[in-house]
Amino acid sequence: MRNVLDRPATMTSAAACLCRDGVRHNGRRMADRQPVHDPHHRPMRAALRLAAEAGARGEVPVGAVVVLDGTIIGRGANRPIGAVDPTAHAEIVALRQAAAYIGNYRLTGADLYVTIEPCAMCAGALVHARIRRVVFGTREPRAGAIVSSMRLLDAPGLNHRVDVIEGPGADEAQHLMQEFFRQRRAASSS
Ligand SMILES: [Zn+2]
Repeated sequence: MRNVLDRPATMTSAAACLCRDGVRHNGRRMADRQPVHDPHHRPMRAALRLAAEAGARGEVPVGAVVVLDGTIIGRGANRPIGAVDPTAHAEIVALRQAAAYIGNYRLTGADLYVTIEPCAMCAGALVHARIRRVVFGTREPRAGAIVSSMRLLDAPGLNHRVDVIEGPGADEAQHLMQEFFRQRRAASSS
């Protein structure tokens, strides 16, 4: 009888990689196999790209995506200056797009990924949207309303609880912020 361990080498290498998103990756992608299998990797990378785009437009570099059943259904890059809208934080932009996409202002079961700890306005919006879980990269010591300046999601009386995960993409999110403010200081002092 043929032993399963005697399978051809091709069966156990690149071809065996079936990722969570259902995409069968070729051998070239196997180099980054570890991050691809991290469920937070793909959405946080998308949020980081949006953050970088915001920074390139002169906005504070924050990006967010909304994920439902493994699919990104809303994307947001911070754009209060460009949109002339004080509410146009990345999270709000992403929530609006996601709600429009599913045709429901309640995003039950959806997760929001954002590069920086949300402010009080955005934390409130997460509750209104019935977001299941917020995943943020790095803390915002002054305006952060999840764990830093206040713990808004823990407030008594809220009729919805949002789970919190902190840390995925933290280094890159922080680097984008530091670079942005370093360049802005350099530009204002020249
Ligand atoms: Zn905000």
